[in-house]
Amino acid sequence: MLAPIKLDDESNPVHALRSLDGNTLPDERFDGLTRLARRHFGVSLALIMRVDGQRRWFSSCDGLAAGRAFAQTPRALSFCGQAIPDDETRDDDLLVIPDTLADNRVQDHPLVVDNPCIRFYAGYPLRNSNGETLGAFCLLDTAPHDLDHAERECLRDFARLAEAILARDQSAAHLKEDQDALRKREKRMALAIAGSGTGIWDRNIVTNEIHYSAGWKAILGYADWELTNQLNDSYQRVHPDDLAYVQAAIQAHFNQKTPSYEVEHRIRCKDGSYKWISSRGKVVSRDSTGRPLRMIGTTTDITAMRAMSERLQENVDLITSLTNEVPGLVFQYRLLPGGESFFSYASAGIEEIYELTPQQVAKSAAVINTIVHPDDLAAYRASLEISAASLTPWHLEYRVELPRQGLRWRQGDAQPRRLEDGGTLWHGFITDVTERKRIEAELKEFATIDFMTQLPNRRHFMVQIEAELARIRCAKEGFATILMCDLDHFKLINDTWGHAVGDRTLRHFASILQAELGTQGIAGRVGGEEFAVVLPNADLVDARAFAERVQQRMAEAPLAECDWRIALTVSIGIAVMNAADATADAPLSRSDAALYRAKERGRNRIECH
Ligand code: GH3
Ligand code: MG
Ligand code: MG
Repeated sequence: MLAPIKLDDESNPVHALRSLDGNTLPDERFDGLTRLARRHFGVSLALIMRVDGQRRWFSSCDGLAAGRAFAQTPRALSFCGQAIPDDETRDDDLLVIPDTLADNRVQDHPLVVDNPCIRFYAGYPLRNSNGETLGAFCLLDTAPHDLDHAERECLRDFARLAEAILARDQSAAHLKEDQDALRKREKRMALAIAGSGTGIWDRNIVTNEIHYSAGWKAILGYADWELTNQLNDSYQRVHPDDLAYVQAAIQAHFNQKTPSYEVEHRIRCKDGSYKWISSRGKVVSRDSTGRPLRMIGTTTDITAMRAMSERLQENVDLITSLTNEVPGLVFQYRLLPGGESFFSYASAGIEEIYELTPQQVAKSAAVINTIVHPDDLAAYRASLEISAASLTPWHLEYRVELPRQGLRWRQGDAQPRRLEDGGTLWHGFITDVTERKRIEAELKEFATIDFMTQLPNRRHFMVQIEAELARIRCAKEGFATILMCDLDHFKLINDTWGHAVGDRTLRHFASILQAELGTQGIAGRVGGEEFAVVLPNADLVDARAFAERVQQRMAEAPLAECDWRIALTVSIGIAVMNAADATADAPLSRSDAALYRAKERGRNRIECH
């Protein structure tokens, strides 16, 4: 809908008209039509009336000089407005009023009753392609008149000719709108391209000419009037090391092997330095055989991005080499809220630690469960769960069973961190502690086992007897017996056979004792030729029976030395250990006392406390 024009201000209509595509000034393009129509129909006035929401005006008017007086009037007062049908369903748009004074719709109209005293009116509406009314082609006369069928058809033809002229206006207006929109888009695009530091090039593949935008030249430090359009010159600017793959990429696209041309390479600037650029393009026209004719593309300066990514790569390389040089596995391990876990980073050391590759654990760490020793798997899982729940450092020594290395000890240490998704991320390392574990075990053995007899030494025996006492205290009515054994006249063996034979005698007795004991109790070497035994849940009768069996075995199996059999006896003192004992020393000294009595009473005897 066009904006209404204020008629009280002379300058306003003119200004408004300029802003409107519907011009309310007379339009001489129609003058030939109205002139022809007036002559043809023999009427005093032929005109092309135009309307908008508020007004009606004449684009062209032929005849009756007074017609000028009412050239523009409010639409409501318009006589010709009658030609614009209110009812769009009306079959015949042509309105003919043969005699205005005989037609009660118009007989009181000012233009009928007063100058120019119109008696005849015929009008046919003018519409655009959307069916919207733009005005009417009208005939007026000061005498009554009528139109026969042929004349009515003829009036329609005049109207259609006028419509054709208006339609041209409409398409011209649309074209202008499209052009304006296109120009705006172009301007936006140009601004965006200029702002992004991107240059544009356009290559004629047939003539080998290439045109660069000012922005393109600016990237290389050239002014707009510098640089030739010759393709060969442009190839000279490409870094010699990059030229081959740049040309290969272009050729591949020319041959339609790639949907577009896209390559990163170095290019020489005006000052001789090189810049990294990203060049992208596409063939936009080909001949009927597919031969490329024209290619258009963009160039972006990626020097800074390239430098940054190189620095980033250097950092990554540094971290990778560091972690790969460190013995063991350096890792980043991630536990998802759903329970799945994987190694988001694993150094090359994973090959030694788990005999796996980083790729094998990159998606899932489930395979580790098959590597951890079954006896340590529960502890392995629990330790990670605790670390994740409490965010305390993970530390664990555990065994793994590996295809190549076999059973090995591993020590893991890592620091957990809670992630936004509720999962946990650990950074840490796992090292091989098999050798340390072996030494530790050896040291433990040194500390607990008597080297000569391979029985627990005194200190270790005391630890175990204390543990047995603790068990007795816990168990209702628990008890045990303690036997103290001392070889008889051992000094004599040393003196007679020598110290080495004395040693063998000690080992001989220890093996008899251990064989008889089996897993029923614990024996230890508590002095030079003194041994102690603890028999859990054995009373004095059981203990005496055990002691007798030991003596019997000794009698049956004397130590064989060359052709000699060295007879040896042992004296044994027995005492009960029960919950009333404050420490293990008490029952031990009771059995000692019993042993003393056995010695006193002649040796090779068993005495109970
Ligand atoms: P008794 O019947 O009263 O026990 O007499 P005995 O000779 O066995 O006792 P005594 O305490 O007089 O002597 C113990 C001897 O055991 C003294 C010591 O040289 C010897 N002996 C202690 N430890 C070792 C050892 O590791 N190897 C050898 N060959 N002899 C040892
Ligand atoms: Mg002794
Ligand atoms: Mg002795």
